Amino acid sequence: MDRSYLRINGRGNAWPIPIAQHHPFYDLPGAPDYANASYSILKKDAKGKIVNDILIDAGHGIIPFLLKNGNRIPDALLITHPHFDHTLGMDWIIQSYYRFRGKKKYPVYATKGCREQIIKTMPHLEELCAFTELSYGRPERVKEAAGEMTVTAYPVYHGSHARGAAMLLVEMGEAGKQLLFTGDVLLPMLRRTDMDRLNGVDWLVTDANNRFSYPKTNHWSVMRRQPEDTEYLKPWMESLSEDILMQPHNFQSYVNYQYLLDFFRDFPGKEAYILTVLEFAGHIRPVNLLLSHYSGLEDEKYYGERLLDTPGLEKWGQEVVKRAGLNIMVKVPETGELIGLE
Ligand SMILES: [Zn+2]
Ligand SMILES: [Zn+2]
Repeated sequence: MDRSYLRINGRGNAWPIPIAQHHPFYDLPGAPDYANASYSILKKDAKGKIVNDILIDAGHGIIPFLLKNGNRIPDALLITHPHFDHTLGMDWIIQSYYRFRGKKKYPVYATKGCREQIIKTMPHLEELCAFTELSYGRPERVKEAAGEMTVTAYPVYHGSHARGAAMLLVEMGEAGKQLLFTGDVLLPMLRRTDMDRLNGVDWLVTDANNRFSYPKTNHWSVMRRQPEDTEYLKPWMESLSEDILMQPHNFQSYVNYQYLLDFFRDFPGKEAYILTVLEFAGHIRPVNLLLSHYSGLEDEKYYGERLLDTPGLEKWGQEVVKRAGLNIMVKVPETGELIGLE
């Protein structure tokens, strides 16, 4: 019988971890997870052979990872947002498929803004890809998945350059599992009804770039900490406007535009905005929380906190979730790790 897994293909940020620097989270032998936030939803047969691979994001490091782990072209790609640590691997994957599968176009699922940004930076991909456009809040069937699978995009704000940035909900029909991949996010812009709909998702796989608030990174934080968060968060909150939040998403798509208006209707005051993993998890109450994409450089620079390694971040994450009174399993997975989804 085939079994389903979530595989961690890479966890790394691009710019906070530049070439020629060391970092306790990433200096692991055999785990080249720099500049690649990427996951796979895999099906393996009874012999352990991969028979289906739906890839979520594909950064710089995805190519060496795939070569070392089964050397197989994923069956389709879902993209959260058009930053290189999530997209740069697309070129080799798509060219491999196109050249060696009879010039078939490669299936990519992305929002309109995300697709436009990808094509702007890698124009040759336009004719090599078969894009399925994801509209906010509307599930799309992932046709290449073995078994029933849908993906739904929800808009997020991740800075003015992250056009069409979204978190992606993947729902697996037969296994009845729901996985929510936040991508990179500073402010989720979900309607109340969708927040309710996400209640109790099995896996929340989240951006954990920094532990404490520093919105100039365009990432949310795991939690807030006084008094520093007032110093860094307050001026940013004051500068925010609906126009600023709308700008990376406003591409003449009526569905998407209406979705954002609904978000502003549901969250009319900035003070209600969700700006941390803890607040978001408190709303949707996932069963499991996976912290990924850690940098910690801002925690070190602005909060005087040292950089953590993987067990350190996991222990800290478990403590703060417990202290918040949330009954959620917290894990910081390693690159290459397989998590059973049955
Ligand atoms: Zn990223
Ligand atoms: Zn990003």
